[in-house]
Amino acid sequence: MPKAIVIGSGIAGIATALRLRKKGYEVQVFESNSYPGGKLHAFTKDDFRFDVGPSLFTMPHFVDELFELYNLDPREYFNYKSKQTICNYFWEDGTRFSVKKDTKKFIEDAVDTFDTHTEELEDYIANAREKYELTSGIFLEKSLHKASTYFSLETLRALSQMQKLHINQNLNQLNESSFKDARLVQLFNRYATYNGSSPYQTPGIMSMIPHLEMHYGTFFPEGGMHSITQSLFNLAQDQGIDFHFEETVNKINHTGKKATGITTSKSSYEADIVVSNMDIFPTYHKLIKDLKKPEKTLKQERSSSALIFYWGINTNFPQLDLHNILFSSDYREEFRMIFQEKSLSKDPTVYINITSKENPDDAPKAAENWFVMINAPGNYEQDWEALVAKAREHIIQKINRVLGVELEDLIVSESIMDPVKIENDTSSYRGALYGAASNSKFAAFLRHPNFSSQLKNLYFCGGSVHPGGGIPLCLMSAKIVSELIPAP
Ligand SMILES: Cc1cc2nc3c(=O)[nH]c(=O)nc-3n(C[C@H](O)[C@H](O)[C@H](O)COP(=O)(O)OP(=O)(O)OC[C@H]3O[C@@H](n4cnc5c(N)ncnc54)[C@H](O)[C@@H]3O)c2cc1C
Repeated sequence: MPKAIVIGSGIAGIATALRLRKKGYEVQVFESNSYPGGKLHAFTKDDFRFDVGPSLFTMPHFVDELFELYNLDPREYFNYKSKQTICNYFWEDGTRFSVKKDTKKFIEDAVDTFDTHTEELEDYIANAREKYELTSGIFLEKSLHKASTYFSLETLRALSQMQKLHINQNLNQLNESSFKDARLVQLFNRYATYNGSSPYQTPGIMSMIPHLEMHYGTFFPEGGMHSITQSLFNLAQDQGIDFHFEETVNKINHTGKKATGITTSKSSYEADIVVSNMDIFPTYHKLIKDLKKPEKTLKQERSSSALIFYWGINTNFPQLDLHNILFSSDYREEFRMIFQEKSLSKDPTVYINITSKENPDDAPKAAENWFVMINAPGNYEQDWEALVAKAREHIIQKINRVLGVELEDLIVSESIMDPVKIENDTSSYRGALYGAASNSKFAAFLRHPNFSSQLKNLYFCGGSVHPGGGIPLCLMSAKIVSELIPAP
């Protein structure tokens, strides 16, 4: 049987392994860590369970698809429920707003809360949908680097309606021209952070992101986010995929213009196909050092990173749900600090994710597991100890002001994740959450293709290559890679 090797067991790596196994390859996955999942991992401390990275689960059908590929019922491995409340928002002026899954209800509530009216919201949401429908088939589901993508009716249709895509203005400009209420502008600006970008730089086309949440909904996986990768790992093992943990790949071997295998910390392995799920930057700098580097792509600005406090809180907060956002009073300054100053603002937007709201076993009785995250710059060798200490103070002060509590007295357990640790744990260059930022209208085209133009048989999947970061896009990258690789 022809052999395929996958470097890294992030969600895209596992998904690629599954797709290649189905195609008829014997698949081996090599992983530096002692566990699968990469950024999608979990830990328990002091009886509190925490998901390490992602907390928002959208488009679960992309996960189900992998079980269906093997004619299996996904529910036998993995289950999830649809959330009726998408997110609770809090502003310092006392505004509270809960976004409901039902779009009609969302619009009614928004009209009651903000200075807006039904048509304004309906128009915005309809345009978001149109953007997605016009572009997803071209920008997300196919390789952007094959001529066939451009010579299609679908592409011509999107090109003929370019003005609807708002590529020549940034997301904030589009939102300011759509809404007069600054709180609504901020709410819709936040979607730029779903791919680690700034709303003041990312193009208006990103206003399609709320459509994904509103149309497809948001979900909570039984057992937490970690069960996404854990269940795919179980499926992969059942299908005979071979995992090598704590075995770092140091080199992709090649003869002439053809990848022939890998050399790891323990041995060398031959293969007919090699797929790297490692971030594209270190892939070039460490595994294929001798190849010509695609400088423009590798120099692209990286997406934001994150600073996370995993706190055990010894009380219950009925005003909070699974996803909660405490907005900064100066959003523009927050993003200026992150992307221009590579630092943190004094008044960050604080995201509180509490899985014990859905999964009570994640915390002891009458307690909650708080995953408290702020957007952060990448690791540019700043003084992280000082930045983390200051941020901790600012976050606690903000939560105290907005929720009217003395949070420090309620914290009974603490762990911290910063950009340096994200980089060390996953090899993600600068600790970026989503590979390159989408802070320019050319970003989609500069993302690395899913194949190597220098080495035959070498492919790339995961958040740092086309079509981008986030769980659904990583799963799409695996699908694109498997479509590019011929059946043996
Ligand atoms: C804090 C945080 C919050 C996030 N929030 C969300 C969210 O809410 N929703 C969402 O959809 N997405 C979110 N994301 C993004 C999402 O986690 C990623 O896009 C996705 O998990 C990346 O998967 P990946 O397949 O690219 O690989 P990764 O998860 O980056 O894994 C790569 C794997 O490769 C291994 N590896 C690297 N180099 C080597 C080597 N040389 N040899 C062997 N193994 C190697 C690494 O150890 C790692 O296990 C978040 C990310 C973070 C960090």
